[in-house]
Amino acid sequence: MHYDGMTFRPPYEAGSLLLQVTRGCSHNACTFCSMYREVSFAISPLEEIVDDLAEAAWEFPGVSRVFLVNGDAFCLPADALLNIAEMIHEALPNVRSIGCYARIPNVSSKTDGELAALAAAGYNNINIGVESGLDDVLAFMNKCFTVDDALRQFERLHAAGLPFNVNIINAAAGPKRIAEHAAANAAVVNAAQPTLIFVSPLHVDPGTPLVGLIERGEFEECTLGQYLEEEIAFLEDLELDDCVFFGVHVSNPVPVNGWLPRDKEALLAALRAGMARIPQAELDAHPNKGTEGSLR
Ligand code: SF4
Repeated sequence: MHYDGMTFRPPYEAGSLLLQVTRGCSHNACTFCSMYREVSFAISPLEEIVDDLAEAAWEFPGVSRVFLVNGDAFCLPADALLNIAEMIHEALPNVRSIGCYARIPNVSSKTDGELAALAAAGYNNINIGVESGLDDVLAFMNKCFTVDDALRQFERLHAAGLPFNVNIINAAAGPKRIAEHAAANAAVVNAAQPTLIFVSPLHVDPGTPLVGLIERGEFEECTLGQYLEEEIAFLEDLELDDCVFFGVHVSNPVPVNGWLPRDKEALLAALRAGMARIPQAELDAHPNKGTEGSLR
């Protein structure tokens, strides 16, 4: 299999075949992200994908899930993604799920018909880094889309029948805006009605612009306790019809995972109990400093 530079996938894709269709990230400029800083973006040559699928068909003929890597594989044009899906189904007939990371601009660049065709071709698990429900925080993160842009694309994905997950970074607006950020994040997720929410704290990874912003006093990082406070407030405000709440990544200080709305009270109780067990000195410290690439 070809893997160039760093490769990332969501924790829940641990059992999936990782098929490299790009290297790096076509954006590679989010304020907090160090994942692909050392990798130049490039699209994989078709012959590499053909070779990797032939190898996978030999090594893992029964695989049922494929996750396209790397940073935002959904940036590929729809016809390329459709061609890749066709090759996957031909080489690996048991595949029922094709997923990848996607940016909001990757969705908006596709027509309604293309999104519907991608859904019909088996794309049913795209992961979108929404991160925040506040426009100024999205601008600070250099995400290059607004909350309204995201909401419009979620509507189009639903209309196309293409299921998606969202990533939310709690505590990304700083300690003075915990309640405001939690409410805004919940509002955008409630409007999105995703299949899964992946929650994580804001990380301060070496080599990112965020480090300089903190050093110059232009951004104040939340403590672990403030992060948990925001995660709890966020969860309290969620009103979802049928969604996985996924917070069991290595970066989650109190790991919780369950279905909403069914498990909401149990998840809140677990978060509150977990927070109560953490020594005050740890709650007052900054979380996960330098956990490179761990936002995903
Ligand atoms: S967070 Fe995602 S979109 Fe932003 S630079 Fe990192 S990989 Fe690219």
